[in-house]
Parts: sequence; structure tokens; C-alpha cells
Amino acid sequence: MIISVASGKGGTGKTLIATSLALSLANGVQFLDCDVEEPDAHILLKPAFSQRESVSIPIPRVDEEKCTHCGRCAEVCAYNAIAVLKTQVLIFPELCHGCGACSYLCPEDAISEVGREMGLVEKGCSGEIEFIQGKLTIGQAVAPPVIRKVKEYIDPQRIAIIDVAPGTSCPAVEAVKGSDFCLLVTEPTPFGLNDLILAVEMVRSMNIPCGVIINRTGVGDSGVEEYSLKEGIPILLRIPLDVQIARLYSQGIPLVEGMPQWREAFLELFADIEQAALLQHIEMVLDE
Ligand code: SF4
Ligand code: SF4
Repeated sequence: MIISVASGKGGTGKTLIATSLALSLANGVQFLDCDVEEPDAHILLKPAFSQRESVSIPIPRVDEEKCTHCGRCAEVCAYNAIAVLKTQVLIFPELCHGCGACSYLCPEDAISEVGREMGLVEKGCSGEIEFIQGKLTIGQAVAPPVIRKVKEYIDPQRIAIIDVAPGTSCPAVEAVKGSDFCLLVTEPTPFGLNDLILAVEMVRSMNIPCGVIINRTGVGDSGVEEYSLKEGIPILLRIPLDVQIARLYSQGIPLVEGMPQWREAFLELFADIEQAALLQHIEMVLDE
């Protein structure tokens, strides 16, 4: 089962939830940190890395001898990574996603491909948890190829927990894609509600069952509760605003290790995820 842990904005406690769930289930779980621009789950899980692999994508290179400057490559590039001038073709490698469309469709066979390093995938263990993280190279703007590489390690026979980049743009979509269930972590504030609505739209557009976790309850308002009820999205866990929880996090101590009484709540959360995933899946099939 693949469970992604996402949030419409940063700083909601997404990594705290993802690591606590992984540590509570522990035995044989895979943890994938797909927040590749800023992977930080390793601070809490402290894995020992044993394997490193670089990630590169194919970037086009134009043979000006063959090129007729027809403009086809620029037309098919969905990312504006090519501009064709009268006597020259300009490539913008930092915008290229390595999709290969330009070289495939060039009528003169004038485009070859060269590798460009985008980042790194590191693999190791944190106790009984298999830990994999992606790291985008500084200065690179295209995260999905690194995220895809991290996700290649998912073993469908095991439970995989994915820590997703905050927001609802390409990196978040790429990380959530293919999940059996998505946990949406938010705060009970108008900002939290606004970003939750965007995150719900994202997972619903991908037909992925979801549930909400409200972090730092006791502040803000009831907007998130009312919205979730109205939309029929289960609230699977509420975590109060608590100085001790914040202190543990700032010290790099996972919640369920510093406060073991939370372990049971995360085991119950997993049981609720399984049930909610099944129910929502049945509803989706009936709606089709
Ligand atoms: S499609 Fe090929 S021939 Fe046409 S402009 Fe691009 S590189 Fe040149
Ligand atoms: S490989 Fe894809 S993204 Fe890159 S320049 Fe060619 S068409 Fe654009």
C-alpha cells in the first residue's frame, strides 16, 4: 500500500506525521522522502546510507549542419525549453524536462541527447525502515525526474510512505501520483483551509482517496472541520498545539519516540486509512 503525506503549504507538520506513521508501523516499511528540494525526514529518522545514485535526464543537442530551422522542436516543447531563430536553435537546459519529444519529432534527425545531472537518490536503513530520499542539485528547477527515480524503489508488496513536497504544483503531483491513499495535513486556520481546498482538488483530480489530519488544534477556527464534513472527507487524526511536541521536533526527536503514548494513535491511523481507502475506492467505482 502506498500512502502519500501531503500538505497545501509548508510548515504544517507533514514530515512529523509521515515519520511517526513509519516508526509506528516500522517492520519492513519503506519511507520515501520525495520533498527533493528540501528533504528533511532524515533529521528525524537518522538513516545510515549505503547506496547513492545520480539522476540525469536527456537534454537535446542540435546539429546545426542538419537543422533547417523549421521550428517543429519549439512547437512540440511543452516547457518552452527551445527557441528557434532564423539561423540558430537555442536550448534552455534548466527548463528542459527530458521528455524526448523534440528529438523524436525533428524531421531532419538533427537532435541528439546528452545527459544532464539533476540530483541524487540515496538509499539506506533507519532501524527496520528502508529509507530512500531524493535530492535535487542546487540550481536545478525540475524536480519530477528525481522524484520518479525515488519512486522506482517502491516495493508493491510493502507499505510505502511518501513525504511529498508542500504545495500543489508539479513536484507534489508527481509524488502523490499512484498512491493508494493521500493524507492531507493542515492547520485549523483560514490559511490552512485555503491550502487544504487546493490539495483536495489535486488528489480528487487524480482519483486518489484522501483523509485530513489537523495539526496544532486548539488555535484558529472550525473552518477546516466544517469543510471536511461538507466534502465528506474523514478527519483521521487531530494533534494539539503542544510545546513538548514542538520542542521534540526542533531537537530532531520523532514524536512517537519522545512521546511513545502517540504510537497507538498512529497504529489506529493506519487502520483508519485502510478502511477509508476501501470505502472511497468503492464510492469512486460506483460513481463511474
Ligand atoms: S525540429 Fe529539427 S530541423 Fe527543425 S528547428 Fe528543430 S532541430 Fe532544427
Ligand atoms: S526534451 Fe522535451 S522538454 Fe526538453 S527541450 Fe525537448 S521537448 Fe522540450
